[in-house]
Amino acid sequence: MTTPATGFFTDTSVCIGCKACEVACKQWNQLPADGDFFSGRSYDNTIHLEATTWRHVAFIERQARLSGQATSRPFSWLLMSDVCKHCERAGCLEACPTGAIVRTEFDTVYVQPDVCNGCGYCVVCCPFGVINRREDDGRAWKCTLCYDRQKAGMEPACAKACPTDSITFGKLDDLKEMARARLQELHRRGVTEAWLYGMSERDQPGTEGLHAFFLLLDRPEAYNLPPDPSVPTKGVGGSWGVMALAAAGMAAAAVVAAHSRGGERK
Ligand code: SF4
Ligand code: SF4
Repeated sequence: MTTPATGFFTDTSVCIGCKACEVACKQWNQLPADGDFFSGRSYDNTIHLEATTWRHVAFIERQARLSGQATSRPFSWLLMSDVCKHCERAGCLEACPTGAIVRTEFDTVYVQPDVCNGCGYCVVCCPFGVINRREDDGRAWKCTLCYDRQKAGMEPACAKACPTDSITFGKLDDLKEMARARLQELHRRGVTEAWLYGMSERDQPGTEGLHAFFLLLDRPEAYNLPPDPSVPTKGVGGSWGVMALAAAGMAAAAVVAAHSRGGERK
């Protein structure tokens, strides 16, 4: 029997920005603190995903109201726990020359630290800017979707710690069903701006769908997510085709030139 694909459904509409997920991830994976600082852009003090921050909760201040918001003031917070998307077509995995990045039996994307040589090809090929190298050891690190916990039959630390179930872990098919039902419910309740980011290949052809997908309340750019991410290798087939056509064209031109030179000598 094959193991079903697993993933995360992150429903940002119920995130309260407590950062319990970030802390649980750091604790379980023994990741060092990056130091607290005030960016001046937000109350968020960890700013972005990093080689030592595998979950990041973004605090986004907007000069806009959410539908159904009780206050008339044009202001609202968007809170969102971001993570590696464990893409169906993963740019990091396709770029890795050593085979350090593999697809697990849970259909998640895992970096084997003992094989990674720190070349950094994966860093530039992730369309989300997720994976990065650690300054201390030079190797690439990112969320493992708690591979070790999953092997032991446990849910990932972030999902376990989330007090509002903004992060749900489970079988990918169940998560998609849950996400569709939640979207319908929010639309019925008048939250018409809610939508699903990256749930399927139809929604996001450039990655063929994410195994960690999101319910968002604004356009992706508001969350610092790309609107139309694409794996760099997606365009490679087309490039080879263009190169083949160009080569055929040059060969034809060479034959014509050789013929015309032959004609001139007669
Ligand atoms: S989000 Fe980036 S690091 Fe994560 S699987 Fe996709 S390409 Fe790899
Ligand atoms: S633990 Fe849950 S509610 Fe708290 S910040 Fe993370 S996703 Fe949001």
